[in-house]
Amino acid sequence: MTWTWTAPLLLPLLGELPPARRPLPKPGAVEATLFSGEFQERFWARVQTGEPGECWEWQGALSDGYGHVRVAGRSTPVHRVAYLLAGHTIPEDLVLDHRCRNRRCVNPDHLEAVTSRENILRGEGAAARAARVSHCPRGHWYGGENLRVRPDGRRVCRACERGRRR
Ligand SMILES: [Zn+2]
Ligand SMILES: [Zn+2]
Repeated sequence: MTWTWTAPLLLPLLGELPPARRPLPKPGAVEATLFSGEFQERFWARVQTGEPGECWEWQGALSDGYGHVRVAGRSTPVHRVAYLLAGHTIPEDLVLDHRCRNRRCVNPDHLEAVTSRENILRGEGAAARAARVSHCPRGHWYGGENLRVRPDGRRVCRACERGRRR
């Protein structure tokens, strides 16, 4: 797949590289949508905005816990749209993390661009819980010489590994 589009807004907005079959939006189409008053009016009409410190929840339909709107023909997560509308950019190798852990929230103050690994570690998933564990099931420290990290990212306790081999 060749990826030639380099407009600063487009890549981060889409959040992922599109399948090769799908045509890319025309240059400028994303920006034209985002910066139109009509789009912004319709967008914020579907958000329950509150105080700066509160969660501003998306009132529209959710899929996988996240709201989406069409931007230049593409379904785009609403928290990414809100973040860009607030004047932030999202570097293309980063993902947007909900610091409040509320997926419906589009309050730009609650969003932060982080690496995808960081995002996983902060989350509530199994990988995140596993990563926060500091010792193996038998109590050996996951660190220093005793730690081996497998190519898939899982940690192995060398003491236990040696014990099993004996
Ligand atoms: Zn929030
Ligand atoms: Zn161990």
